[in-house]
Parts: sequence; structure tokens; C-alpha cells
Amino acid sequence: MSDDKAKSARWGVSTQGIRAHAVQSEFAEHSPAIFATSSFTFDSAEQAAAAFDEREDRYIYSRFDNPTVHAFEQRLAALEGAESGVATASGMAAILSVCQTFLKQGDHVVAASGLFGSTIGLLNNYVAKFGIEISYVAPADTAAWATAMQPNTRLLLCESPTNPLTEIVDIAALADLAHAQDALLVVDNCFCTPALQRPIEMGADIVVHSATKFLDGQGRCIGGAVLGNADLVGKQVYAYMRSAGPCMSPFNAWVFLKGLETLELRMQAHAQRALQIAQWLQAHAAVGRVFYTGLESHPQHALACKQQSGHGAIVAFELRAGQEAAFALINACELVSITANLGDARTTITHPATTTHHRIGPQARARAGIGDGLVRLSVGLENVEDLIADLERGLG
Ligand SMILES: *Cc1c(COP(=O)(O)O)cnc(C)c1O
Repeated sequence: MSDDKAKSARWGVSTQGIRAHAVQSEFAEHSPAIFATSSFTFDSAEQAAAAFDEREDRYIYSRFDNPTVHAFEQRLAALEGAESGVATASGMAAILSVCQTFLKQGDHVVAASGLFGSTIGLLNNYVAKFGIEISYVAPADTAAWATAMQPNTRLLLCESPTNPLTEIVDIAALADLAHAQDALLVVDNCFCTPALQRPIEMGADIVVHSATKFLDGQGRCIGGAVLGNADLVGKQVYAYMRSAGPCMSPFNAWVFLKGLETLELRMQAHAQRALQIAQWLQAHAAVGRVFYTGLESHPQHALACKQQSGHGAIVAFELRAGQEAAFALINACELVSITANLGDARTTITHPATTTHHRIGPQARARAGIGDGLVRLSVGLENVEDLIADLERGLG
């Protein structure tokens, strides 16, 4: 570990988000520069040869690495307590990169049934066809994960809390299961971000991100990242990136770098508003169950408090009167945006059964517990009184 890395590892989350791996060019700019260049030049043929032979550590080509992208990778790695990071074109590209780097024909994956819908689609449609077997288990049922393990299990894949039902996966217990054999625990840390949860400290081998969500925080760019130790990510995922090329653009990396500067403040503010809204919903006559790990009524509240330093922005709730009432609520919103995206400064509302979870079909929805009356909020950063007033009108 270099001196710079050792120093930033001791900083608090806000300081890391603002100061870790601050790069400066010869012009001494204070805010990081965007290196919009596809390649880098050499002083001589010998230097080019040394760079390609990895005898000299230099930038070569922006599919391999780029100073702005590298700054984002290093800063996010510092936040996650990881040795290495590789930025990707999207969150899905991060998950695909992990699958293609670490899985081969004949391997087996155990995945949470509550994973993001596109992740399940990716596994079923584009990973399984290479002869990789996938088993799905209920995220919170640690015994089910243990039962699903096979001698050829190579990867365990989860999110915690899950979307939209906020189920908590016992990360340390899954790490033990993975490490009892030659398997890797991969955690998609999209919903908590390292500001609220650091899976690597709990034993996870790899963290993946959709930077599109809270890392950006303002709904501007698509991106992702893979974080982990120097061998798994710095060497193996990086080698995959050089060959396969689902890389992040320097402009997007710059936007995400700026996003990291306010990450901790934003996550605290999201969580504070989300808790107030969850408590208000829980007391409303039209609302059935409310799913938010910050509520003491959440069945895994204690585990969530152990794993997370805050409860995040995602609140789901059931309307007692079903889909019609859910649509009426959504349609009555004047402030809250109707969109499936999440992790934005703007509060968003969606009906999972007919949008994000539509394509998995009614049976899988029933298994996952996604009812027709379920509504998901990604609570933004507006004044909470205005958000409650906006929702109140539609609840009748
Ligand atoms: C959005 C999301 C992804 C996919 O990220 P993209 O940047 O949209 O490709 C993956 N995992 C989770 C949990 C997400 O919410």
C-alpha cells in the first residue's frame, strides 16, 4: 500500500469522498480535470515497449485506464476499504465483468431471489447459456444459502437491503459459507453505498456498484464499478477490462468523482427523510406493510443496525386497496417523479409489479413477494413536509 493509500484508509467517510486520491496535473487545478483522450503518447519506442510490457507504469489507452477514471476507481476503493477498483460502463457491466472473469463452464452460482431484475435477466439469459448453473434462494434465509451450496459453487451474489422489499442478507455468514470452499462472495452495495455499509470489512470478496444511483446522486450518468483486493480486481478484473472493454468514459468518471464528494452528507439526508416518511406511512390507514429497515417493526431491524450505519433511501409499502389504489397514488403525485430510477436528489415513485418486476412474470413475482398493491419510493433530498403533502393527496 502506498503512503497515500495508507493515509486515506484512516480518514472518515466524508474526508475520503472529498480527498482520497486527489490527482493534480502540472496546472495545479483544485477540482479534478477531465482527461478526454483515447490514448497517451510515449517519448520513445523503448518507452512504449516498456509500458506494454508492464515494466513501466504509464497510461497507454483509455480502455485500459485513464487518469480521471483511475481517480474515481481509487477514491471509491478507499471508501469501500478495497485495495483495487475497476470502473465500468454501467452497473450491469460491472456484474457481467465479475461473471466473465470468475466463472467457467460447469461452475455453479448461488444468487438471492430478490436481486435487481436486470441482474436476474443477465444471469438467466446471458450467463447460464455458457453452462453455468444458477440457484436462487430467499435472501434473508442463511440456512437456504448453506443448503444451496454445491462442490462446484464458485460465486455467491447478493444485495442488502434488497430492492424493493428491503430484506437484509447476513453478509458475514455468507462470507463464511463462501470461504469454507473455493467461492467468492459478491455484494452489490448500490443501496447503502460505502457511506452506510462496507461489505469488504464484513468478509465480502468483491463489491459491485451501479454508480448511476447514489454515487452520482443527481440522475445524470450511467456507470458502475468492481472493488476488491489487488489480485481479484487489480489483476483479474482489470485484465478482463483490457480485453473486453466495458469501460467508463472520463466524463462520467468526473461526474461520479464530484458525486463522491457529497456522498456521506447526501446518504445521511436521504436516510433521515426516508425514516420520517416510513413512520408517517406506517401510521396511515390506507397503508398495509411498510418495508424500511430503519423501522423497529422490520423483522431484521437488529441485523440491519449491525451491518449498516444508516438505513438508506428506499421505502416500499403496500396499499391495502391493491393496484388501483397504487396507480391512484402515483398519478396524484405532483412533486414526486414517476420513474424507475432511484438514488436521485429527486424523489421517485414506481409500481414494481408493472415496471421493474414486470418481466419476471406473475409466478416469480409471487415468490419474491411483490404484490399488486406494492409501491416503491426512492426518497430524495426535497423538504420532507413537501414530500408527505404530495403523497398524502394521493392516499385519500
Ligand atoms: C440499477 C441497478 C443495477 C444496474 O445498474 P445500471 O447502472 O443501471 O446498469 C444493478 N444493481 C442494482 C441493485 C441496481 O439498482
